[in-house]
Amino acid sequence: MLSAREFYYSEIAPDEAGKNYQQAHQSAIYDEKSSKEDLSNIVGHVPNLSNDILIESYIENFIASTSGTFSDSISRMFVAKRKDFLANAGAIHAGGRFEGDLVFFYVGLSDLCFQYAILFGEFINLCALRQELPDDSEDVLLSMAGVVKGLNKLANAQLEWGINGNEIRLKDETLIYPSDHLADNAARIATLMDRVVLGHEIAHHLLGHTGRDATTSELLEIRIAPFLNQGLSAKHRKEIEADLLGLALPLWSTFGDSSDQAEFEVALGALLFYTVISHLKCSMFLESESHPSAATRYNHVLKFIRTHFKLPVLDSLIDDIERFQALLFATQDRGLGLMQKHRLSTNGERNA
Ligand SMILES: [Zn+2]
Repeated sequence: MLSAREFYYSEIAPDEAGKNYQQAHQSAIYDEKSSKEDLSNIVGHVPNLSNDILIESYIENFIASTSGTFSDSISRMFVAKRKDFLANAGAIHAGGRFEGDLVFFYVGLSDLCFQYAILFGEFINLCALRQELPDDSEDVLLSMAGVVKGLNKLANAQLEWGINGNEIRLKDETLIYPSDHLADNAARIATLMDRVVLGHEIAHHLLGHTGRDATTSELLEIRIAPFLNQGLSAKHRKEIEADLLGLALPLWSTFGDSSDQAEFEVALGALLFYTVISHLKCSMFLESESHPSAATRYNHVLKFIRTHFKLPVLDSLIDDIERFQALLFATQDRGLGLMQKHRLSTNGERNA
């Protein structure tokens, strides 16, 4: 029987002819770039676990952080980055057509996360500057102007994406660019969110939500089940299970005793990712038949992180995220910031 990768290239994307994403869809960009920089690792990447070299490295991390049936199952997956602008990802039912599991990761979702990652990085930089410098110093004013501009651009872009059914088409007028010195940081933050997306889809497969046998584990019951609120529908319950297992996977083998850095990366990626998707709907309370509301998902994730993670800076990280939510709410009138609204009226002066 075909492997997930073979099935992808023979049945779903024969036009990609076994090439990686950059070769298949971005050859013009990379041809121009490669004359200036050495991009041989990206362009020459031979798809194994994914058609994208970065995603492949995240999957390798998931394999390394788990063991037994979890890591066995993950090493038989193939994650296809797809040139689709919808802000979406999916775990695909194999239905007996291939062995292993297939995940789709749409470029629209990755682009969306990157725009918010840039703005969050700029916001954190502004907060840090304000700790050290007076509010009327040139650096603070400049940084603040950049954040305000970014917030407005993103609000306009988000409005347009919403009108177009959450197709994330980036346009020059509303595109946010990071400051030069923060570009690497923005890319790192975006990476952490991509890993959350991936963790969620992998978790759907491991939990048996896509038709194959669930990878059962006593640990799973202990780590995830206590966090599921009563009253969730069967479908919503599956989404929350995938959210929580997705977060736990990168820390699975060291659970409860992971390094502060590892916990920080998972917490930042998750809290920011669930913030971002709350902006795809007009209300954080809106749920669909298949998915719980953004508020329900965020609150489950937050409770899970607060219970299991021990990193000392957790409170200040949550505080940063929630102040960011408040700012986004002020410009978009949607998203998780509704929960933080009081911050803008009571101590917005200090926190804005
Ligand atoms: Zn899901």
